[in-house]
Amino acid sequence: MTITYPVGNSLYLNITNRCTNACEFCVRTQSDGYYADNLWLEREPTVQEICNDLASHNLDGYDEIVFCGYGEPTCRFDDMLAVCDYIRSVTKTPIRLNTNGHADLICGRDTTPELQGRFDTISISLNAASAEEYQRICHSVYGEAAYDAMLTFAANAKKYVPRVILSVVHGTIPDADLDLCREIASSRGLELRIRDYIRKEQ
Ligand code: SF4
Repeated sequence: MTITYPVGNSLYLNITNRCTNACEFCVRTQSDGYYADNLWLEREPTVQEICNDLASHNLDGYDEIVFCGYGEPTCRFDDMLAVCDYIRSVTKTPIRLNTNGHADLICGRDTTPELQGRFDTISISLNAASAEEYQRICHSVYGEAAYDAMLTFAANAKKYVPRVILSVVHGTIPDADLDLCREIASSRGLELRIRDYIRKEQ
């Protein structure tokens, strides 16, 4: 099973297939893998298995190590932190988290202080300019409450993590909403990144 895979000169981590959303544009609905043949896990790897896999790479040689994969990494929040601590113990390579921003809802606490010293960058999927629209396209298990919780997570994360980015997928929201997303990001002192929509090869 694929636990780590290279994307450019970064090393991506695939630690779970669980997610608290079911986004209509999710790459998982398009293909079994993206930058790797198959990112569906037979089972979730243990922290030790993830660290063993990481140990087989020259981690100093990568630009970034990224928690991403075919699922929401914070569904394994404590395990993710344990892996971060391992990475920090063996390399100075920056660590990024790509997330839907639901960690506080998943864990039932403000998780952001625990990100301090572990992550250099957090990229959070904003996806929409309102809670209603977010729920319409992301189908969160938390309902419309997921949107405000994600924004609270983003604002709090900014206190503990050097770089926090909100992202939207190009082509999935109207241009007028893009302007609203820019305002949502800038009013919180966050960057907005517009990601490309990943379409299945025809
Ligand atoms: S949050 Fe990410 S992994 Fe989860 S369904 Fe949406 S795009 Fe897919």
